[in-house]
Amino acid sequence: MKKPSSATLRVHVTPTADWKLRSGHPWLFSDSIQKQNREGKAGEFAIIYDRHDNFLGIGLYDPASPLRVRLLHRGKPQVIDDQWWRMHLHEAVSRRNAWFGTDTTGYRCINGENERWPALVLDRYGSTYVLKLYSAIWFLHLQKIVDILRSELHPERLVLRLSRNIQDHARREHSLSDGDVLFGEPVREPVTFLENGLRLEADVIRGQKTGFFLDQRENRKFVGTLARGREVLNCFSFSGGFSLYAARGCASSVTDIDISEHALESSRRNFALNNETPEISQCQHEMIQANTFEWLAKNARKFDLIVLDPPSLAKREDERAGAIAAYEKLAGLGLEHLRPGGILVASSCSAHVNATEFFQAVRKAATECKLRFEELQTTGHEIDHPATFPEGSYLKTISLRLV
Ligand code: SAH
Repeated sequence: MKKPSSATLRVHVTPTADWKLRSGHPWLFSDSIQKQNREGKAGEFAIIYDRHDNFLGIGLYDPASPLRVRLLHRGKPQVIDDQWWRMHLHEAVSRRNAWFGTDTTGYRCINGENERWPALVLDRYGSTYVLKLYSAIWFLHLQKIVDILRSELHPERLVLRLSRNIQDHARREHSLSDGDVLFGEPVREPVTFLENGLRLEADVIRGQKTGFFLDQRENRKFVGTLARGREVLNCFSFSGGFSLYAARGCASSVTDIDISEHALESSRRNFALNNETPEISQCQHEMIQANTFEWLAKNARKFDLIVLDPPSLAKREDERAGAIAAYEKLAGLGLEHLRPGGILVASSCSAHVNATEFFQAVRKAATECKLRFEELQTTGHEIDHPATFPEGSYLKTISLRLV
C-alpha cells in the first residue's frame, strides 16, 4: 500500500476501541477517537490507527453521526478500489447462489455491516433489485456501486430506498428520493418473486423495509409444516406471508389480522397470485382490519395455530422494559385463544430486546396462564440475514405447543 498522503483522513482510537475493532466490531464512535489529522466529509475513507500508530482498518467517515466511522476492512493495509468492491459483491452473491434454487428468487444479497457493507442492504425480488441506504456515507460512492451491481448482477431494474433520517439530505444534496428507480423501467405494478415456490408481491417503492419481510422465510416455512387441519390466526399479517404457507400446508382456515388496509389488500392479491395451488384456493381465507391487541382482548374465538409477528415494540433502548412487558402481554393474549394442543409462534424484531429476554417473556406468559407446554423450537436469523455483531441481531422466534 502507498504511504497515505497528508491529505488522507487519519484517526487514532482509544485502547478500548482498538480492542473492539480488532475483535470484529464494525463501528467506531466519535468519543473513541483520540485524535484525527483533520475533519472529514461524509463517505470519505478514514484510515484507523491504534495509539502506537499501527494500522487497524479502513472505514467510511460520517461527520454528522456519533457513529463516526463504519468499518469496511480490518487487518492488513488494503487499497479499497473497484476490484475490492467487486470481489466483496461477488462473494456475497455466490453464497446466495449456493443457498437458493430457482423456486426462491426473493432474498437478501447484502446484509449491511454483517457482510462488510455498513448501512447498506441489497435485496433481490426476481429481476428487480432494491438498494437500501441507512447512512449518508454512501452517496459519495453510489455511482460506482450502481455500476458494479449492474455489471455483476445484470438486474432489469434497480430501486433506491432511503431510511428516513437521510431522505432530506439526499434530496437537498444529491437530488435523490426514496423510491427512485436508478435504472430500468418505472414500477407500474407490484414486483413479483418466488419464495419456496409461492408467488408473492413486493411494494419496492413504498413498502416497509425494501417491500417485503424476507427475514421470516424459514419461520413461514416452519408454520407451513405445522398447519395441516388447523385453524390458523396470523396476527400482524402484513401481506399474508405466514398465511400462504399455512394454506399451502393444508390449514383448514387462515385469518389475517392487520391494522393496515393496504397490508390486507396485498394479502388478498398474494392469495390470488397462488390461486392455481389447490390447497391455497380451497383454504378459507378471512381478513380482519384491527389492532391485534384490542381484537384479541375483545374476542373469544379459538384457533389451533397462532402467529404473532408484531412490528418492533422497542425503537429505543429506554423502551426496552416496556417492550418486554408488551411481548409478555401479547403472548398471554395469544395463548388464551389457543385450543388444547394449539401452537404459538411468536417473533420479536426489536434489536433492543435480546433473545433470552424475549423467550423468557413468552415462557412466563404461558406459565402465568397455567398452561403446560412443550417448546418446539427457537430460531434466530435467516442464512441470508447474518448477524455478526450484537447490534446486528434483532430477530428471534419461539414456538410452543400446548400439551
Ligand atoms: N408477519 C409479516 C410481517 C409483519 S410486519 C410477514 O411475514 O411478512 C408488521 C405488520 O404489523 C405490518 O403490516 C403493520 O401494518 C402491522 N401492525 C402494526 N401495528 C399493528 C397492530 N397494533 N395491530 C395489527 N397490526 C399491526
